[in-house]
Amino acid sequence: MSAQTIAICNQKGGVGKTTTAVSLGTGLARQGKKVLMIDADPQADLTTALGWYNPDEFKDNLASIMEDIIDDKPYDITKVIRHHDEGVDVIPSSIDLSYLETRLVTAMSREKIMRIMLHDIKDSYDYIIIDCMPSLGMITINSLTAADSVIIPVQAQYLPAKGMQQLLQTINRVKKYSNESLDIEGVLITLKDNRTNNAKRTATMIREIYGEQLRIFNTEIPVATKAAETAEHAMSIYSYDPQGKATAAYENLVKEVITDEQRLGCLDEAGAKRHLLDSGNERGREDW
Ligand code: ADP
Ligand code: MG
Repeated sequence: MSAQTIAICNQKGGVGKTTTAVSLGTGLARQGKKVLMIDADPQADLTTALGWYNPDEFKDNLASIMEDIIDDKPYDITKVIRHHDEGVDVIPSSIDLSYLETRLVTAMSREKIMRIMLHDIKDSYDYIIIDCMPSLGMITINSLTAADSVIIPVQAQYLPAKGMQQLLQTINRVKKYSNESLDIEGVLITLKDNRTNNAKRTATMIREIYGEQLRIFNTEIPVATKAAETAEHAMSIYSYDPQGKATAAYENLVKEVITDEQRLGCLDEAGAKRHLLDSGNERGREDW
């Protein structure tokens, strides 16, 4: 077993990355999967959303481990892994991660530090979910280099034309220089306010414009007040609002992701090259 590592990535803030990371991670755990979540944002929103309210007090965190790897010091990854009572493991973040960004610039194999970190524990999990920070700097390049696939949450409020182009260029550069087998798993439409025509129109346009090149998840995540409240309660959306519409949507997303894995597993068994989720990704690859 080697974990499927999924980065949740978009350089824009407020698009639902952290909410998606928490809901996907805890949702997969509810399906019996062994899940590790990595908070790769110095703002540590994922860490606090899971109930560790003072992340800057942790001596052992993502930044400390990555720094030990840069400095070629011995390290014990199990020391940083924390356990949440909804059945997921977490590598917390802290503000130290922003300092690490500058250290990475001059480090050897600077884009591969997180990948090296995961090497020894990948076999212990079914899924590793990385919550990326809102930038395309070295920490995010590390997250993409460590990942097998990327999920791109996009807010159904405006067309992310330029930002999307930058993000896809970055993903392509990572594929070229540091992680050949990185796939775009899909674009996830988030924060969709179904009461407004604007949200519906934008979601349709995202499908029309990007659907040719990229896989867009069938699941769309609606705006739901309770989805925004889960973080304060350090709970997953499944525990906090079991009957909610965003909860049902995230349950569907979990199903879509598990189905992807099964498809990839079949490809592996057939000895086929493990790369494409569908022909849509192939077209995307050539265009960007
Ligand atoms: P990011 O990690 O991309 O910055 P977040 O997941 O933190 O995005 O979401 C941004 C804000 O929107 C947060 O305040 C969060 O609670 C809220 N939010 C996320 N998803 C939903 C949703 N489906 N409905 C309502 N609010 C949401
Ligand atoms: Mg976030």
